[in-house]
Amino acid sequence: MFFSSPALHWPSYSFAPYPISREAALPRSFDVLILGAGAAGLLCAIEADKRGRRVAVLEHADRIGKKILISGGGRCNFTNIHCTPENFFSANPHFAKSALARFTPADFLALVKKHRIAYHEKTLGQLFCDNSASEITNMLEAECNAAKVQIFLNTKITEVHRTTEFILRSDSAEFRAPVLVVATGGLSIPKMGATSFGYDLALQFGHKIVPTRPGLVPLVFHRSDQHRYAELAGVSADVIASAGKHSFREKMLFTHRGLSGPAILQISSYWKEGQHIQLDLAPRRDVTAPLRASSRRDLAAVRNALQEFLPKRFATRWLEFHAPRTFTNPALAALEQQLHAWTVAPASTEGYEKAEVTSGGVDTRELSSKSMESRNVPGLFFIGEVVDVTGHLGGFNFQWAWASASAAGRSL
Ligand SMILES: Cc1cc2nc3c(=O)[nH]c(=O)nc-3n(C[C@H](O)[C@H](O)[C@H](O)COP(=O)(O)OP(=O)(O)OC[C@H]3O[C@@H](n4cnc5c(N)ncnc54)[C@H](O)[C@@H]3O)c2cc1C
Repeated sequence: MFFSSPALHWPSYSFAPYPISREAALPRSFDVLILGAGAAGLLCAIEADKRGRRVAVLEHADRIGKKILISGGGRCNFTNIHCTPENFFSANPHFAKSALARFTPADFLALVKKHRIAYHEKTLGQLFCDNSASEITNMLEAECNAAKVQIFLNTKITEVHRTTEFILRSDSAEFRAPVLVVATGGLSIPKMGATSFGYDLALQFGHKIVPTRPGLVPLVFHRSDQHRYAELAGVSADVIASAGKHSFREKMLFTHRGLSGPAILQISSYWKEGQHIQLDLAPRRDVTAPLRASSRRDLAAVRNALQEFLPKRFATRWLEFHAPRTFTNPALAALEQQLHAWTVAPASTEGYEKAEVTSGGVDTRELSSKSMESRNVPGLFFIGEVVDVTGHLGGFNFQWAWASASAAGRSL
């Protein structure tokens, strides 16, 4: 199940063997180097500074927190007040508990309030900025500036070595520190700068990687279902989506290629290729009860019953493929059953290009759950999405980024 050698499914970085080139620029020395100026990296820098550490954050993009800026439709769903360990999955489901307990949504909210950022609860405990996600990046940047954290943008690290300390080299500079925190995120949205760097680095230092998959991602229909339902693109319905023992009641949305919307994104994290999902199109309703009690039993009556809770076009199209042949009680019972368990076998997901997160990642069995430090390599830490901990939709992935960053930052 685990990769133990750099034979990967992603384009991997190569790390040159030590010693590094003699032409290296003058080394810059710090107490802590953090790779990645995303949610986890920035919060870790702030926490580490509170312990008096000299911190540098190295970021290959031209600005900090690019994913924060596009998150939550531009308003950043920065946490969820109902956060529990059950909102996360991992090969080791207990791993996240300690960090989540020690940095809670209230802790992050305290920071948001300190910076007077207006926010609101949208639904199901999800907290969003009233105005813009840039308020969160501005807040993190202000905290970093106050703490004199040095952030190096456009810094593409090409070599990483460890002697008595970590030595990182970019085209133009060399950075040294006894502590290296890897906060390079997952593989989702490559065009925003997502790379496999963190996974490659973990492998370089002997860590295992739980195979990665796109998570919180739209599902793609098989060709036959695409033909049947593509014209419903944009239509949504309240459903319960299930895969195995996992279920989510939220909105589902038809797309040109398949299904999306919160219910589908949530269940996509549990769906595996070759499996099917089930959709309850009529949660907690006995749709055919009035028909069974009525003397008028025909297709129009069934359609009317469905259109009471499903969008008209959806009800009509769905019935084209699921209409009962007769209207006897057993036939109506079978229809009722189908309505509560419409079985769809997706062909695939929309992949990392459209995924909100990457599930899998650095195997937690080789990390301390208290500090996120490697058990194999003292001074090496992994935080945020690069670690094999993935949250549900609804602010949980940021909460993991903050909590794991705080756990590492406090132990530096
Ligand atoms: C469209 C979208 C919307 C989302 N909305 C939400 C939401 O509303 N709520 C929520 O909880 N979660 C949301 N997420 C998920 C959330 O953004 C991530 O889980 C979170 O950003 C992970 O934080 P991180 O710091 O681990 O990684 P990231 O935020 O991805 O940060 C990693 C950083 O490392 C940098 N980096 C990568 N490789 C290198 C390298 N080789 N050298 C130097 N730097 C490198 C990257 O440029 C980036 O700045 C969303 C994700 C997407 C894609």
